[in-house]
Amino acid sequence: MKALVKTKAQVGLELKEVPIPEPGPDDVCIHIMKSSICGTDLHIYDWDDWASANINIPLTIGHEYVGIIDKVGSNVSDYSPGDLVSGEGHIVCGRCRNCLAGRRHLCNKTLGVGIDRPGAFAEYLAIPVDNVWNCDRKIPLEILTCFDPLGNATHAALSFNVIGEDVLITGAGPIGLMAASIVRHAGARHVVVTDPNPYRLALAEKMDVTMAINPLQQDLIEIMDYLDMKEGFDVGLEMSGNPKALDSMLKHMSHGGKIALLGLLPETTVTDWNKVIFHGLTIKGIYGREMFETWYKMTTMLQSGLDISQVVTHQISYKDFTDGFELMRSGQCGKVVLDWEQM
Ligand code: NAD
Ligand code: ZN
Repeated sequence: MKALVKTKAQVGLELKEVPIPEPGPDDVCIHIMKSSICGTDLHIYDWDDWASANINIPLTIGHEYVGIIDKVGSNVSDYSPGDLVSGEGHIVCGRCRNCLAGRRHLCNKTLGVGIDRPGAFAEYLAIPVDNVWNCDRKIPLEILTCFDPLGNATHAALSFNVIGEDVLITGAGPIGLMAASIVRHAGARHVVVTDPNPYRLALAEKMDVTMAINPLQQDLIEIMDYLDMKEGFDVGLEMSGNPKALDSMLKHMSHGGKIALLGLLPETTVTDWNKVIFHGLTIKGIYGREMFETWYKMTTMLQSGLDISQVVTHQISYKDFTDGFELMRSGQCGKVVLDWEQM
């Protein structure tokens, strides 16, 4: 089969012929229809410090996908060839305290598809059946392939009650954009999104936000004033990984406000902890998706009118993967989807 493999400790990926994976007794093998590029894939593509410390080459990368089950292992009885599925990219141990208690997203032995084991930028992927999500065929394939990042957005956006609340989202990358749509769907009053990238701000405008602002040009105090907000934002979703965005969020939260931290911050980030203490803020770290409550909510929100179609800005053949990674690097895109069925 064809696969996008990290073969060398340098920038790039190689489109290679590799063996089709054989599912183990508790696995399924999925024929990939579409996959999408994540920021993590770009780190691996660019072979930055994080990638060179964490990735063992050669490795087929990619962890966002949708496809059709091709084969099932001998112990698998509840899925069959032909089922339309996506899958949770965190493979958990099943035996630690959190796994046994049903909090699998908090497993401390998590392995990542496309990071610690072969990934989904390939014609076929084998994963444990416990990681499979049965897809609603009414949801378009280019949305189903985004269930992993949509799950990040959902996990963060539904962490706190947003009905009637004012929500600040820093970062209008694909995850911030999806989160904006979700909090709107969930009944927030004002949804203010910040991003210095005009392309991303234009996308945010399409997500029915209250305001999409460039933090380099506009001050949040003025925006709050304009919106007649008296005490600051009730809920903050940090989705940029930029320390300045976090700093600005901490300054503009109402006392008792709640923050979900999803963007990966640099180690050198300095935080005004006294703001957190004196303003009684709650901060929750978000990693991955709740298995499988988040997957359930994503599906049911899409079934009840959540629309994230504007986030998927590009769909290209897997053969044009270098264009896809260039787009990701440029920031002139939302989600970039690779089609594995185009010849
Ligand atoms: P992205 O890089 O596409 O989006 C980040 C956005 O933040 C960009 O549009 C950028 O212009 C914007 N930004 C930069 N500086 C800013 C500032 N000062 N204020 C406001 N916005 C600013 O990333 P994404 O794919 O949407 O992911 C968002 C973040 O979440 C990334 O940091 C990513 O590494 C992280 N992430 C975390 C998890 C998790 O499980 N915690 C999973 C996936 C991604
Ligand atoms: Zn575990």
